Amino acid sequence: MIKKVFERQLSWLERIFFVDFIKGLSVTIRHAFSKTITTHYPYEKLTPPKRFRGFLGHKVVDGNEPQPAFDEWVERFKIEVRPGRSRCVVCMLCKRACPVPQLFEIEGEKLPNGKRVVSIFNMNLMLCTFCGFCVDACPVDCLFNSDIHETASYTRKDAILNLEALEQIGRDWQARREKEPDRIWIDNHQRQKLWRENDLKLPEVKG
Ligand code: SF4
Ligand code: SF4
Repeated sequence: MIKKVFERQLSWLERIFFVDFIKGLSVTIRHAFSKTITTHYPYEKLTPPKRFRGFLGHKVVDGNEPQPAFDEWVERFKIEVRPGRSRCVVCMLCKRACPVPQLFEIEGEKLPNGKRVVSIFNMNLMLCTFCGFCVDACPVDCLFNSDIHETASYTRKDAILNLEALEQIGRDWQARREKEPDRIWIDNHQRQKLWRENDLKLPEVKG
């Protein structure tokens, strides 16, 4: 049996003039005309901060590799450096650092000149937790988290990134965001959109 725990009798004035209904409607109307703090997604999209942990990618060789680490690892593993291609030195440290190492498939290939290149680098991102351990482990700043966060797909195989896809993510990110200062907020407009400028007095973001 359902026990009645609350029952309030409406006064005759409340019954005639719908007082509760008007009170509720006034809240709705007040919020309908106040400033929106949500984003009209997917028509309006905010750019995530540079440190955002989105889809993974491979940075490509562009002359901005971390030195002397890159040259040392290239020398140690006898890697053929190919401009515009992945910086990967096939050290496997990313796979070792990963809590789900089976999501990686990494293989190197020996060239006729005796040097090696990465030939297979598949990542099944359906198993990825985006923890970033692999990124921290990479000694040559090759593997990185991009700002790609719209990762829904119609097939499972779209969640498996191969070397070409990882390199393409890297090229795109390096062109768009590599030189951007490392900061939490993209710009003041985006920050104000989220936090309402007048409600919170936050310091200016300087680029
Ligand atoms: S982000 Fe974490 S779970 Fe995903 S591949 Fe890297 S180490 Fe593995
Ligand atoms: S840690 Fe970096 S360099 Fe080493 S295999 Fe992974 S992506 Fe390649």
